[in-house]
Amino acid sequence: MAGGRVRPAGNLLLRRPARHIPLFLMSAARRCLFCRRGDGGFVSSEHIFPETIANADLAMLPPGVVCDRCNNGPLAALDQTLCAYLPIAMRRAVLGMTNKAGKRTTLRFAQGRVEPMPKEEVAPGDSHGVRIVDSGPRPTLVRDLSDGDEVWLRLEGQGGRRLTPRFFSELSRSILKIGFELAFLDHDHTLLEHRFDGVRDVILGVRDHSGEVALALPGDLNDVRLRGSYMLDESSGLGGVAISILGVQLVTHAAGQELVPTPGFFIGRF
Ligand SMILES: [Zn+2]
Repeated sequence: MAGGRVRPAGNLLLRRPARHIPLFLMSAARRCLFCRRGDGGFVSSEHIFPETIANADLAMLPPGVVCDRCNNGPLAALDQTLCAYLPIAMRRAVLGMTNKAGKRTTLRFAQGRVEPMPKEEVAPGDSHGVRIVDSGPRPTLVRDLSDGDEVWLRLEGQGGRRLTPRFFSELSRSILKIGFELAFLDHDHTLLEHRFDGVRDVILGVRDHSGEVALALPGDLNDVRLRGSYMLDESSGLGGVAISILGVQLVTHAAGQELVPTPGFFIGRF
C-alpha cells in the first residue's frame, strides 16, 4: 500500500550537518546579527544552544557575528529561560551534566530532587552517577507498566517556572534565537537584510510578540542530541523553528503563522 505513513513527532526535526563559517566575518564593517550595530564589542563567541547543554565545540558562531552586548545581555537571558524549563532541567540533571564551572548540581523540584551520587556509591560503568530522592510520600519515579521483559518507569516532577504566557513568550524567543543562528550558518550576511529586522527585534525583546509554542516530552530517554531546523519566509524573514534538546522538543514560529496540533505536543499561547 502506498502512502499513509504516520510521521512520528521525533522526525519533525532534521539533523543538521556541521557547516563552515564564512570568512567575511573578518571584515572591518562588521555589524551584530541581532542589533545590527558595530559598537557592542566583538570578543565573544556565541553558543547556538546554551553552553551548559552543548559541548564547547558544538555549533558556535565565532567572535564577530554577535556583539558582546547582545550575547551577554538579552541572548544570555534567553539561554537561562530555556535551561529553566523543567523538562530540560530534569534531562540535564538525570544525565549528570555539569554546570559552567564543571560541577554537577542538584535539581530540586516540588516532590524531590535529582542529585549527584557520592563517588563511592557510583557503580562501575554508571556514567551518570545521579540519584533521585523523594522529599514526600509521593514517589518521583513511578513504575508504570510491565510489558513482557520491559518495565516502564515514569519520572514525575513539578517545579521550575510556571507556564505563564510570559514564560511561553520567552521560550518562543529562545527557540527563534536558535533558529536564526542556525539560519546564519547557511545564509550568512543575507540575514542582516532589513526583512529580518522584525524577528531580530522579537528575539531581543524590543518588539511585542504574540504566538504559540508547542512542547513535547522526550519519547526516547536515550536521545541526547541537540537538533534544530528552521524555515525562511519571503515576507516575514524567519518562519517556523523546531528544536530538540536532549529529546525535549519545542516548536514555535514568528508572527503570522499557526502551529498544526500534533499528538504528544502541548501548545502554549501567549
Ligand atoms: Zn548586538
